[in-house]
Amino acid sequence: MKAFENLSPATLDEAVELLGTARANGEVAYPAGGGSDLLGMVKDELVPAPDRIVDLKRIPGLDEIRTSERGTEIGGLVTVDAVARSEGIRSRYPVLAEAAAAVGAPQLRNTGTIAGNVCQRPWCWYFRQGFSCLKRGGDRCYSVIGENQQHAIFGGGPSFIVHPSDTANALVALDAEFQITGPNGERTVPASEFFILPRDSLERENVLETDELLVGISLPSTSANRSGAYRKVMDREAWTHAVVSVALTLDMDGEVCRDARIVLGGVAPIPWRVPAAEDMLRGQGITAELAQQAADSALEGAQPLAKNGYKVMMARALVRRSVLELSGAA
Ligand SMILES: Cc1cc2nc3c(=O)[nH]c(=O)nc-3n(C[C@H](O)[C@H](O)[C@H](O)COP(=O)(O)OP(=O)(O)OC[C@H]3O[C@@H](n4cnc5c(N)ncnc54)[C@H](O)[C@@H]3O)c2cc1C
Ligand code: SF4
Repeated sequence: MKAFENLSPATLDEAVELLGTARANGEVAYPAGGGSDLLGMVKDELVPAPDRIVDLKRIPGLDEIRTSERGTEIGGLVTVDAVARSEGIRSRYPVLAEAAAAVGAPQLRNTGTIAGNVCQRPWCWYFRQGFSCLKRGGDRCYSVIGENQQHAIFGGGPSFIVHPSDTANALVALDAEFQITGPNGERTVPASEFFILPRDSLERENVLETDELLVGISLPSTSANRSGAYRKVMDREAWTHAVVSVALTLDMDGEVCRDARIVLGGVAPIPWRVPAAEDMLRGQGITAELAQQAADSALEGAQPLAKNGYKVMMARALVRRSVLELSGAA
């Protein structure tokens, strides 16, 4: 493995400058949060070898959760574990607390940051085993005719990765906004527009430029009637990514659903929101029949590959069950 320089900037401006300078000099530099994904990929030579790693952990203020009347701000360096345990997040945004608690193992949650979790690279086994596939500049996607059990049933092509982050699905369901900083200043991007499909870019999974940083996440204030839940199916009991998952929020007025968000995980290269299914619930009393109709609608248009058709049935059942449980109609 090529030696690299580990830099620990004390301010965000310094971090952005270090990344920008590296880019201008034709060098490879990566920002690191907890480093739990990045360092493994560097060690296994799955990404171009870095000249520098810009460790963000010394920058003050990025590891705080702040709540005000306008909502909640989560610094990009807040650990996944702190998100899962925060009383404020658990009471106001249970879908996010549950998604964070569902991430990997305790050690990963303690090390991994919310920004790093959202920006983690794909876990397609071809990619992680070093195959020279499209994502790594090669000329083919091995999953198309290969072992595609874990791959996308929506939004795939030319790569069929699924987005691996549990928290990303919850953040889309909560209408979160991502604060980004870079050499041209700050910008805010809705979570729903942060993630991008392989057909729009094969090199990256989100809108960040190589010298931009995800510095924080804003959650809008929420009503007392809005409940939420994150349900995840795994191929073993714990410590692994979702085979399929659903991030669900329901705004209930008695038995009537005023508003809903349904975001599927493990099925697409981005958190996959299903607005048609949400529309079906809006303004209606939730019944078993309606939950089934919404679940059917959520999976409409799925295009499974040869070995992942099981995800359609699994995700459909998960949506139906989650809607019934969360609405209290179960
Ligand atoms: C065995 C195993 C099981 C796992 N299971 C799950 C799971 O069930 N659910 C799940 O969601 N995840 C899972 N993960 C992934 C794990 O949660 C991530 O590795 C972790 O959250 C990444 O956080 P980090 O801060 O360590 O990121 P890093 O490793 O520091 O960074 C990850 C990526 O994000 C970039 N990055 C980091 N911070 C920033 C920033 N502020 N701005 C811009 N870019 C940034 C880095 O350059 C890098 O490309 C699993 C990982 C392993 C190894
Ligand atoms: S799904 Fe994407 S990452 Fe996996 S082999 Fe195909 S191109 Fe590579």
